Amino acid sequence: MRCPFCAHDNSQVKDSRPSEDNTSIRRRRQCEGCGARFTTFERVQLREVTVVKSNDRREPFDRAKIEQSVALASRKRPVAQERLDQLVSGIQRQIETLGENEVSSREIGEMVMEGLRQLDSVAYIRFASVYRDFAQARDFEEFASSVAEMSRRGQ
Ligand SMILES: [Zn+2]
Repeated sequence: MRCPFCAHDNSQVKDSRPSEDNTSIRRRRQCEGCGARFTTFERVQLREVTVVKSNDRREPFDRAKIEQSVALASRKRPVAQERLDQLVSGIQRQIETLGENEVSSREIGEMVMEGLRQLDSVAYIRFASVYRDFAQARDFEEFASSVAEMSRRGQ
């Protein structure tokens, strides 16, 4: 399994156990390259969902891609891996219960942003800055200050 941090191809399984509801196997892995630890899940694919990207290309839904971007956005932040796993599982469930065969990458991006916003404001800003592709520094500053405002108000 490729390391989400340094893209090294090999990792070692350190721990393997069923999830609470017994619908998946959770594996703790350690990258043989950089030593980073990350988690993978093995689960039954409930339905085949196709992701429609902004350039209209289509690809199969891949949970690992969400895991990867969430892991990168929250790197070195004080967010428990478990919370990130829950976030990704929640998004996957949302997508599965939409009942659509296709979901846009934009919709998925919004779900990830919403989830991160509730977990950690720095991870949220990191993800959003990439996702929304802020063209001008000014936009980003406005965005960052609106997040600061939100966290002051305790939202
Ligand atoms: Zn690595």
